[in-house]
Amino acid sequence: MTDNTKTGYDVIIVGAGPAGLCAAMYAGRGMLKAVTIERGAPGGELLNTDLIEDYIGFESVKGWELAQKMAEHAKTFGAEIVTDTVEKVRKADDGWFDVATARGKTYRAPAVILTAGGTPVKLGVPGEKEYAGKGVSYCAVCDGAFFKGEVLAVVGGGDAAVEEADYLTRYATKVYIVHRRDQLRASRILQERAFANPKIEMIWNKQVVEIKGTDRGIHHLELADTATGERSSLLVGGVFIFIGFKPNTDLVEGHPKHDAGGYFITDERMMTSIPGLFAAGDVRSQLTRQITTAVGDATTAAIAVEKYLVIDPGEEAGLIAHKLQAERVTPVGVWLTHAHIDHVLGVPRLKADTGAPIHLHPADRMLYDHVPEQALAFGMRAEPLPAPDRELVHGEMLRVGGLAFRVRHAPGHSPGSVVFEGEGVAFGGDVLFQGSIGRTDLPGGDVDTLLKSIERELLTLPDSTIVYSGHGPETTVGRERRANPFLTGAYRLG
Ligand SMILES: Cc1cc2nc3c(=O)[nH]c(=O)nc-3n(C[C@H](O)[C@H](O)[C@H](O)COP(=O)(O)OP(=O)(O)OC[C@H]3O[C@@H](n4cnc5c(N)ncnc54)[C@H](O)[C@@H]3O)c2cc1C
Repeated sequence: MTDNTKTGYDVIIVGAGPAGLCAAMYAGRGMLKAVTIERGAPGGELLNTDLIEDYIGFESVKGWELAQKMAEHAKTFGAEIVTDTVEKVRKADDGWFDVATARGKTYRAPAVILTAGGTPVKLGVPGEKEYAGKGVSYCAVCDGAFFKGEVLAVVGGGDAAVEEADYLTRYATKVYIVHRRDQLRASRILQERAFANPKIEMIWNKQVVEIKGTDRGIHHLELADTATGERSSLLVGGVFIFIGFKPNTDLVEGHPKHDAGGYFITDERMMTSIPGLFAAGDVRSQLTRQITTAVGDATTAAIAVEKYLVIDPGEEAGLIAHKLQAERVTPVGVWLTHAHIDHVLGVPRLKADTGAPIHLHPADRMLYDHVPEQALAFGMRAEPLPAPDRELVHGEMLRVGGLAFRVRHAPGHSPGSVVFEGEGVAFGGDVLFQGSIGRTDLPGGDVDTLLKSIERELLTLPDSTIVYSGHGPETTVGRERRANPFLTGAYRLG
């Protein structure tokens, strides 16, 4: 891991449009540590929209103003917004996501919410690239004012084309809507508005085949009749292209399920077919794409981001899997306190069901790799386990939702036994029990090592720390300090 690797996040949000900002706000409220990576100014398409009149609660609001309010609201709940361009989102072998950026950073987290919106679809005709920004535009609100007194063309037949044509009549003397069919796809109300606008003229059954101009800008469009192929010219000073959006889903490696348009298909939690990868807003396959739907998706995604983990799945893997399914959650990881068979038997089932990364201390790898042999010693059969994804390191902090746990290496019961300690509790595996300690007669066990581990890793914790043991009832550090015969020295007296 280099200085350019950023860790410690529960979730990475890609894009700070309405969906990303809303996800950041909910993540903050949910005590998740989130980073939102945005390539431009926060606000997304709101910044390309003049007036918004259909965002409930605001009869009329400027796009930039709503963007600013959303960003401020998200920051109130601690949103960290980084300016950078995400180049790749990849699920690594350890089950976490690597989010690589143009500035050479790699952000790591167990979950990603993709809220990267879309990019306008290009016509792909000669002259389009050449005159981009010099008469060819994909954003009426951004560029309309540059075309005061001009004759313009809008290409397309959907909501965006018709709405923007109407908007452009504020500046232009005339706006042609060039459409390759003989009827519009736009909603009826928008169509009626366009047909009633004396500055708008429809040009049916024509497609643009070339954009022609001079070094001063666009001069005319070359059109072809979609039925006869007959060519004609349309004199215009600018052309606005609204023939669709391509969702920014190419960033993701691994081909999650998507529809014909490339929009990611999600379940009702907004999770894509890659566990832990969520999609919200304009990147998601759905009936309509509005600010309200974007923030609705984002709310669900941020709430659904996993805050669950499984510790030591033993024989009861079926029960755990059933519970996870009933709750519709995927754990951020499977943490193993050690590799004795009764703590790891459920690993294959959970790995297969959830793909959650397996965390194990390397000193127990030998035991882990010999689970079938461990099983035979108890007259049982067990399949080999899937390789662990992450090695636990003494002292490292692991996070789940808003909670953080320190890994404490506590050998003695087994060489790689660990305790997960934080938030006033300790998941102690078989290190310490109520009134007892872990057995030390199995391979790699040693009673003196275990007692030293307990002294160092558990008895240094506050008395109030609740200890959840691998077997038997919970206890507290204080209770064991006072009454556990192995810790008071009573057991040595016989
Ligand atoms: C001209 C126009 C007018 C509209 N008018 C309305 C309206 O009146 N009412 C309404 O409800 N909806 C309207 N919409 C639709 C609405 O704006 C969108 O549905 C909404 O913005 C979607 O939000 P989003 O967060 O999913 O995506 P976006 O708003 O597109 O935000 C995506 C964000 O991700 C960032 N991003 C993309 N790729 C990367 C990357 N690789 N790295 C980092 N950041 C990245 C982008 O810069 C952007 O900020 C309009 C859309 C347009 C184009």
